[in-house]
Amino acid sequence: MSTPTLLAERVTGLVAPSPFGAVLGHVADDAVHLTGGSPAPESLPRDEFAHRTVEVLADLDSAARALDYSGHQGDPALRRWIGAREGVDASRVVITNGALHGLSMTLLAAVDPGDLVFVENPVYPLAVKTLQLTGARVDAVPVDEDGLDVDALDRALRSGARPRALYVVPDFQNPTGSVLAPDRRLRLVELAERYGFLVISDNPYSELRGSGEDIPDLDPASDRIVHVNTFSKTLGPGLRLGWTVAPEWLVAGLLDLRARHDQHASSLLQAVVTRLVTRDDLFERTVAAASVLYNERAVALVDGLRAELGDGVDVALPAGGVFAWPRFTDPNLDVEALASAAAAEGVVFLPGGQFSVVGDSSAARRHARVSFGQTSSDQLRTAASRIARAYRRVIG
Ligand code: PMP
Repeated sequence: MSTPTLLAERVTGLVAPSPFGAVLGHVADDAVHLTGGSPAPESLPRDEFAHRTVEVLADLDSAARALDYSGHQGDPALRRWIGAREGVDASRVVITNGALHGLSMTLLAAVDPGDLVFVENPVYPLAVKTLQLTGARVDAVPVDEDGLDVDALDRALRSGARPRALYVVPDFQNPTGSVLAPDRRLRLVELAERYGFLVISDNPYSELRGSGEDIPDLDPASDRIVHVNTFSKTLGPGLRLGWTVAPEWLVAGLLDLRARHDQHASSLLQAVVTRLVTRDDLFERTVAAASVLYNERAVALVDGLRAELGDGVDVALPAGGVFAWPRFTDPNLDVEALASAAAAEGVVFLPGGQFSVVGDSSAARRHARVSFGQTSSDQLRTAASRIARAYRRVIG
């Protein structure tokens, strides 16, 4: 007889929102994996990281600070650097252990059980998972080539929907790669103010623009806007370091939660990253070089898919980030079956339906999410031809 567990309902009530990375069947030994959202290791400033770590630890005073407890809100110099980039006072910046941590604290601080929260459809599934901690009701607003469909949101609000919060990824959205159009950004802030809900902008790919002009994030001057962000896509997700820009009314709530969780992000890591990002223009050079690399890879992938699949695929070149979102034009094609066949041919990607965990999934099921950040252009061309082989097998 097994011993009954002592798990709280808070945990037993959690359900996986999607079979993220579901078993695809046989995966070829030499498979190219196009599933993750991590940065290319060769784009990360390893040497600089090593030097700054030694520097922090070599000096007794700075080592003592870096190895001691520090404030809940995070290193003041790092908050000043982030505040300057975000266009807000450092007092509104809270250093977190990554974007998901910032999202989870923001939701816990601002959403009560039973509240309605809107997410995107398709959506980054871990955001929905995080949202389960709040006991909120979750509904979706569709995403198109210009990001969140603000007209659809407007209609839902006019018909009486009263969300407490809305989650959106404005730049190079995960999974679609779309960018929220500037006029939609303005309207979203207006709607948030008119109807009194919080918009949580999660923008981890914003620095990784491959082409076109930067578009400012949702206006942080509004007290209905939160920015959640991270160094995961620029300096490495293993760091677990990010930040949240909160309206003034929310900062104390976040810090109250923080005081009951982990106290603060690693003092050592914050000291190292502060030195790293505030030195010359190292951060700018790092993200500029990474953006060029990802753009080359995006072109290799998209050109490869178009050349191999012709009319069978409709795929936009993403203007940044690390994801492409090809749509297979044959309405009878089962993209899950294609993903399994492709795994056997030696390329692993995620079927689009896995990102449509709230709302109607029929549109997303015709797509695939294909990551290109960590794979060389040559490998991406090979991947495209393997996808085409799998495609021919599946359509018979
Ligand atoms: N938000 C989005 C949209 C992401 O794509 C990711 C990473 N896949 C995260 C948040 C997670 O960021 P972090 O590692 O900083 O928690």
